[in-house]
Amino acid sequence: MLQGIIFDMDGTITKPKVDFAAVEREIEKKFGFVLDNSEGSSPEARAKAMERFDQVETQAALESELNDGVHELLDHISQKRLKTAILTRNCRKSVDVVLNKHNLHFEYVISRDDARPKPAPDAIFLLSKMMNIHTDNLLMVGDYKYDIICGKAAGAKTALLRYKKKLEMEVTPDFEIDNLEEIIHIIARG
Ligand SMILES: [Mg+2]
Repeated sequence: MLQGIIFDMDGTITKPKVDFAAVEREIEKKFGFVLDNSEGSSPEARAKAMERFDQVETQAALESELNDGVHELLDHISQKRLKTAILTRNCRKSVDVVLNKHNLHFEYVISRDDARPKPAPDAIFLLSKMMNIHTDNLLMVGDYKYDIICGKAAGAKTALLRYKKKLEMEVTPDFEIDNLEEIIHIIARG
């Protein structure tokens, strides 16, 4: 029985904006490597790289546009009394900017400042506790393979927002959707 929905932010709640590849070229470091520090960079170099990602993300948040159907979907979810959360690898500040700018409310927010980032499933287990919902009864919605990998690893249902593109992935989501409205049908199925 579906009781809660966890949304990725960039490319899911908002239209895709942050050009991570451009920042990676600029600072000559991969975002994932900076996050988990697998390059073994010095704390100073890592802090500097993170600061640049924070800046770019916050600027993108200020310029962000909502994806089609977000308000309608969130109204529907609240009528159905399901709980909602945001789970993003972006910084907390950029999430606050997006939520304020678009007057959105999610009961729970996990950013990279709060838990090990996706694809690690840690944040879904954490949200499961905070929301008091077993992971079986959670749906993770996102537009990237890491959203699906972390959702599945935690035992949640997963929906890939693919915008009619065929995405090659090593994992298979439970649902593939072309727009957010399709989540209403997933909710109707329970
Ligand atoms: Mg995304």
